[in-house]
Amino acid sequence: MPVEGTTPEPVEEPQWVAWTLQRLSGSPFRAKFRLTDADRAYARAKGRAMIDRHAHEMLRARVGAALPIKDGKQTPWKGHPVFTAQHATATCCRGCIMRWHHIPKGRALTDTEVNRLAALVMEWIDRDLRDHPTQPGPPVEVVKSAAPSQPKAAPTATMEPLF
Ligand SMILES: [Zn+2]
Repeated sequence: MPVEGTTPEPVEEPQWVAWTLQRLSGSPFRAKFRLTDADRAYARAKGRAMIDRHAHEMLRARVGAALPIKDGKQTPWKGHPVFTAQHATATCCRGCIMRWHHIPKGRALTDTEVNRLAALVMEWIDRDLRDHPTQPGPPVEVVKSAAPSQPKAAPTATMEPLF
């Protein structure tokens, strides 16, 4: 069951996104989603603007119509960061969108609604990427030697006599 926020639904988009992610975090089902390493690498390689465009396109194509094809089963579980983000944010089908985001079924989503749901998807992806920074590679070993690095002067047997 959706966990309703105790504060009223914010009007401004950034606040609405934060408020909605907070509500979603109360759902064990929604909260368990994570991007795969491959998703993260893909998202980083494509860049945010491209993924944001994908989010808009995929939402429009899969849940934007009044009666989406195979509604309830149209969003794969994995294969693209937006797919996973859609399940995590309850933007995967019109049933979830109705229950969580109170947009009625049976009519097309407006551009404003698509933009808002895409912003939600993108913030979820941003957070996952932030929580999983790129592997920095093996830490540089700082070898701290107490002794100076130059080889010790070996006692020279062949030293010229000083006198
Ligand atoms: Zn759904």
